[in-house]
Amino acid sequence: MLLLNPGPVTLTARVRASLARPDLCHRESEFFDLQDEARRRLLDVYALDPREWTVVLITGSRTAAVESMIASLVPENGRLLVIENGVYGERIAQMAARYRIDHASVKHDWMRAPDLDAIAARLDAEPGFTHLAVIHHETTTGRLNGLDAIAAVCRARGVELLVDGVSSFGAETIAFDDETVIAVAAAANKCLHGVPGAAFVLVRRAALATATSRAYYLDLVRLAQLQDRRNTPFTPAVHVYYALVEALREYVDEGGLAARHARYAALAEQVRSGFAALGIDSVLPPDASSVVLRAYRLPAGIDYPTLHDGLKARGFVIYAGQGDLSKTLFRISTMGDVDEADMARLIDGVREVMAR
Ligand SMILES: *Cc1c(COP(=O)(O)O)cnc(C)c1O
Repeated sequence: MLLLNPGPVTLTARVRASLARPDLCHRESEFFDLQDEARRRLLDVYALDPREWTVVLITGSRTAAVESMIASLVPENGRLLVIENGVYGERIAQMAARYRIDHASVKHDWMRAPDLDAIAARLDAEPGFTHLAVIHHETTTGRLNGLDAIAAVCRARGVELLVDGVSSFGAETIAFDDETVIAVAAAANKCLHGVPGAAFVLVRRAALATATSRAYYLDLVRLAQLQDRRNTPFTPAVHVYYALVEALREYVDEGGLAARHARYAALAEQVRSGFAALGIDSVLPPDASSVVLRAYRLPAGIDYPTLHDGLKARGFVIYAGQGDLSKTLFRISTMGDVDEADMARLIDGVREVMAR
């Protein structure tokens, strides 16, 4: 079965084999070597300077990294503006509410790109916003929210940017060199091809100095301090870290960021043009979409369960739209160990389901 959902991804044999390495106590030097290698390799993905940036590993689902970033990096007297144009932006607003962080949202229809004028107007109308949170790749629709333009709005107003890069890290360019970007949350099992259970936050060391401790398990400052000292407060998912490190080694062997981007872009284009020939439209134009996942309109007369079950019988797991979108669209991710021949079979499979 090939997974075309937005993670967990289909594993390579190499990453799968790494799960069978020896059992390890997380208080032994072998584990801290593994933790150090994971942290070093994660900074290397975007060639970040370890004097300026650090990375904090968290055992948990991808949301754990986003929650740790939000709960820790908006200071006690800070104020957060959240850009919502999909499910994941809405989740950030819910996190801010749970932690009683002073916050507001600029809400958009899920089909819309962030409205820069509305965001600037909101920041200007209500002074006091210190931070802005945005989803880089809004997986709800496959839209890539343009970080450069949003960062420019923030820079002019002294606002710092917190980025959910969960479904873009490792495959899309991220504006790490923009000084307004102070943290990016991501995880092991989307574009990096690890297994579920490890998430991480890349954060500027300077931002940790003004961070706060609203959370206990997800306290970014404490996690950073202990990991910098080759330590850990809790028991990490050791085997998951094996897989993360192996996935990062494989990522480098395959050519790193540029190669991963090019590979996904080619697969995404193959699927887009193959579906277009069957009369299935992309929800967004390619230049507004990530290369990681794209949303398509359900073909006329075929509902999602029919398409899903027909493709599952042929060896593919696709993904529904979220909320009301489940009635009108479906999503195809091209992450993980899938290739051109697999996508050709997928397109044939869709043709067969439509012909029935
Ligand atoms: C997948 C995803 C998440 C969260 O993943 P969980 O497994 O639900 O924790 C967060 N943000 C984005 C943008 C995602 O694509």
